[in-house]
Amino acid sequence: MDRPPVGQVQDLASLAKLDETILLEEIKERYTQDKIYTYVGDILIAVNPFKDVGIYGKEYSARYKQIKQSAHPPHIFAVADAAYQALLGRGGRQPGNQCILISGESGAGKTESTKLIIKQLVELCRGNTQLEQQILQVNPLLEAFGNARTNLNDNSSRFGKYIQLKFNQGHLRGAKISEYLLEKSRVVRQNPGEESFHIFYYLFVDEQSSQLGLGEASSYRYLTNGGQHVARQLDLLTQQKADLINAMDLVGFTDQEQANVFAMVASVLHLGNINFQVNDDDDSIHVTDSNGPVRVAAKLLGIDSSEVEACLTCMVTVTRGEYVKRNYNRQQAEDAREAMAKAVYGRLFGWIVNKINCLLVPYDLKLNKGFTEIGILDIFGFEDFAKEGGKNSFEQACINLANEQLQFFFNEHIFHMEQEEYKKEGIDWTEINFVDNKPLLDLFLAKPIGILSLLDEESLFPKGTDQSYVDKLTKSFSGNTYFTKSPQTTKPVFSINHYAGKVTYTAEAWLAKNRDTLPPGVPELFQSSSNELVKTIFRGQMTRTGSLALQGRRSTSHKSKQRRSRLTSSGPDAAKRKITVGAQFKNSLGILMERMMASTPIFVRCLKPNYMKQPGHLDTQFVLAQLLYTGMLETIEIRRKGFAVRPSFVHFVEKYKILKDLKLKGSSEDCVSILQSARLEGWRIGKTKVFLKYSHVEQLTELLDRM
Ligand code: ATP
Ligand code: MG
Repeated sequence: MDRPPVGQVQDLASLAKLDETILLEEIKERYTQDKIYTYVGDILIAVNPFKDVGIYGKEYSARYKQIKQSAHPPHIFAVADAAYQALLGRGGRQPGNQCILISGESGAGKTESTKLIIKQLVELCRGNTQLEQQILQVNPLLEAFGNARTNLNDNSSRFGKYIQLKFNQGHLRGAKISEYLLEKSRVVRQNPGEESFHIFYYLFVDEQSSQLGLGEASSYRYLTNGGQHVARQLDLLTQQKADLINAMDLVGFTDQEQANVFAMVASVLHLGNINFQVNDDDDSIHVTDSNGPVRVAAKLLGIDSSEVEACLTCMVTVTRGEYVKRNYNRQQAEDAREAMAKAVYGRLFGWIVNKINCLLVPYDLKLNKGFTEIGILDIFGFEDFAKEGGKNSFEQACINLANEQLQFFFNEHIFHMEQEEYKKEGIDWTEINFVDNKPLLDLFLAKPIGILSLLDEESLFPKGTDQSYVDKLTKSFSGNTYFTKSPQTTKPVFSINHYAGKVTYTAEAWLAKNRDTLPPGVPELFQSSSNELVKTIFRGQMTRTGSLALQGRRSTSHKSKQRRSRLTSSGPDAAKRKITVGAQFKNSLGILMERMMASTPIFVRCLKPNYMKQPGHLDTQFVLAQLLYTGMLETIEIRRKGFAVRPSFVHFVEKYKILKDLKLKGSSEDCVSILQSARLEGWRIGKTKVFLKYSHVEQLTELLDRM
């Protein structure tokens, strides 16, 4: 068979011959013609155009409505359409809950794809409801607080999210967002050339800044920690802020709530500007200017300024019934300050997600009956900042682990489960090999000897340090081919050979990040706030001192009231530890996988065309690397030779008997007679199922339509 002209093939699984060169040629030629989407069977490849390609307007929305995949050029809207049709029991996909899994490295286009899918889903079920309008605003809203400019992406998601859209008889009825691991450390520090979360820069564009006691953006430690402060275009920021406020209005945040949110965000910047001074006489430390940033921060947070100072400079322990005040050293005071700032921002973000969920979940949905859902997964993409001269920390390890997990899920579905089924059903099949990344997941997740378990162990160990942790890793994984220890043994550095490349991690502050404990007294202090929002987000948050603080409550003197809030304990109460960040992340990944397993997945594979975020340029080596590590060649192979659609005999006959004879029951012979009368070729019959290609389903659907 002659190969069609390069760039004309819409489904790479239909190519008669395939290797790296051909694959790359096709994708490159299509990209040059602004055809950024290409199918591999039912999988969509999307190459980021880094420019407006003009294919998301009204007429495109209208075009991709209840159609066969092959009816129009590949498009992200077709993915939304396929999911929606499946929800209604139409089309070739298995009916019931669907999930759309979007993968790709940082800056590849996952978040943009997510928004386009949601936009099209709303278009498809269009009921012109308020809820639909709310749901469309969720992404822009979350991006303001959870996205930031990094060296890899100007609008990089610094958290992962799974959005479940709930439908009832085709109508959109609600949504639920689950968020994963916001990169809180960005609040206090950024890699050189990077920025903090977008929202911080919105504070400075209008008179609100003076209301919040703010001066120039460049005078805040937390906005300049990454090196130089990048001044951004004012008109753009002003527009973005207006969009955000519009989004908050539409989703349903009250004016009071919005004011509280902005005040809290500003308080973080003020906290960051608190300086400390050590008293030479007694080595005590105090806040340099009691009337300076600490006062403004405390005011915005509705808490007592002197209490903030106290929490940042000393702690009070109880030893044999005696209160003992211990002064912090400079490092401890600064750590306490950063911890406080990160806690305020992190909890605020959590509250925002929660609030959105409350606003988008109608009452009857809570009963969760009769709804089917389309879930959309948009995580933070694989990243390696060492290439950019930066460092990879605990957050990058978690981000990359999430990407490993997603790649594993892809492999499970596309290669493992499918080929198992061929075996089970006795289909003649030559095994297609794929790169299994299970050993990497084990390296991270195994108990008791895994990267996260060992981190937990070391975090609980009072004498544990980042270095002793890395020493343990090195000892435990000396024979593991995916793990390399640093050649400089004095540094807590190690490398992991990820599916997407080797990444070197610097384990500085991993123990502290994993423990994520607040300085003693801080939760109690925040709970005493006169600001409802501040109070709410710290509710139910006790430090390990919780029970001691309660004991203290019996005492009424002012002095003990002050002390109480800063108590800490080294006694038995210290054993009541909260779950570590690593363990929490591992749990939520587990829950996510279960959810995804219970749905029919659709995969979107986003590719980044070049490293410089430039339009019109496709770096062949860079793209080839992505195609190879995601297993795209093998994927195309299995979609070419394999059978992506595998209905049971009964299901098949039920759906298509009208093409042959309504009296058919559901035996393998019945299936064969339908397939033969439809004049299809290349299908297989297993022990309990029919094995079809997507093209078969399309042909059958066409025959049904003609009836
Ligand atoms: P991260 O993992 O860092 O969050 P991501 O995969 O979510 O990255 P996006 O934020 O979706 O990446 O995309 C990065 C940028 O690429 C966008 O801000 C936008 O400028 C551009 N982009 C992505 N997809 C498209 C598209 N379909 N059309 C035009 N521009 C796009
Ligand atoms: Mg993103």
